[in-house]
Amino acid sequence: MDQAAFEAKIHEYVGKQEGPPYTCPDTVNEPMIRHWCEVMGDENPIYTDPAKAKESVHGAIVAPPSMLQVWDMRGYPMHDPSLIQNAQRELHAIFDEAGFTGVVATNTEQEFLRYLEPGDTVISETTIESISEQKATALGVGYFIVTRTAFRDQKGEDLGWLTFRVLKFRPNQQPAAAGDAAAQPAKPRRIRSPEGPDNAWWWQGFRDGKLLIQKCSDCGLLRHPCRPMCGACQSMNWESIEASGKGTVHSYTVMHHPPVPGYGFPIPIGLIDLEEGTRIVANIKGCEPDDIHIGMKVECLIEPAGEDDDLMLPFFYAVK
Ligand SMILES: [Zn+2]
Repeated sequence: MDQAAFEAKIHEYVGKQEGPPYTCPDTVNEPMIRHWCEVMGDENPIYTDPAKAKESVHGAIVAPPSMLQVWDMRGYPMHDPSLIQNAQRELHAIFDEAGFTGVVATNTEQEFLRYLEPGDTVISETTIESISEQKATALGVGYFIVTRTAFRDQKGEDLGWLTFRVLKFRPNQQPAAAGDAAAQPAKPRRIRSPEGPDNAWWWQGFRDGKLLIQKCSDCGLLRHPCRPMCGACQSMNWESIEASGKGTVHSYTVMHHPPVPGYGFPIPIGLIDLEEGTRIVANIKGCEPDDIHIGMKVECLIEPAGEDDDLMLPFFYAVK
């Protein structure tokens, strides 16, 4: 399919509803509100304390407005295309077939029109709002797709809306060597982390073969991820120490989906307690995913992210 035919085909989806209106499975309820506040660290008592909520302008417990999308979450069936068929999935499949296999969420905008109360039912309706022209991005050539979800309650009253923008892209490939007409396109590589004034030194550490930890020069507290200010004493003076690379698995997950190009799946991802006292997120290697367990001793090796890849990353290997 040439580009014009492809673009005509994808643009047929603009304005289409993703599927029929979706009635969210759980009515607004206090247990979900409480768990969400706990996870987000929101301690406002109008969400969880009936006595305090009664004294407030609401007169009773309400849900945090920014929880609106939570009611609409579809859960585990999301990972299996055969379980959820909708226009957006069809559209993404057309992109995949044309080689635009990468997907990355870029931004979301939301507006909340009223507080939800326990007992409210949320009904959502998602429309494919727009598809951009073809754009060249750092990840590869692609198209931005915006979807808009409108939320209303059981009486049809508007509760708010959310737009979500993703980039469907053809992952960047390394250029073939000059004059090598027969060269196969190189495999996609792992996505690069952004390096800026606050963290480039940390990534440089890997290129120098070192796992570094940021340390406050005033109170001595170690911190990670890298940031300009100490959370304990607000000092902006910092230095770094080199970690031994020894640690233990604090928690982990094994990622199977989505199959982002450039990564080998499944990927065991660990939250590693370094012996110096900070935690970092990194891949776990050296054992089967089923053998990983919390408390497992691991040791860091700094290695290229993959074959033919110059990105240096810390990998944590199970200590035998
Ligand atoms: Zn400090």
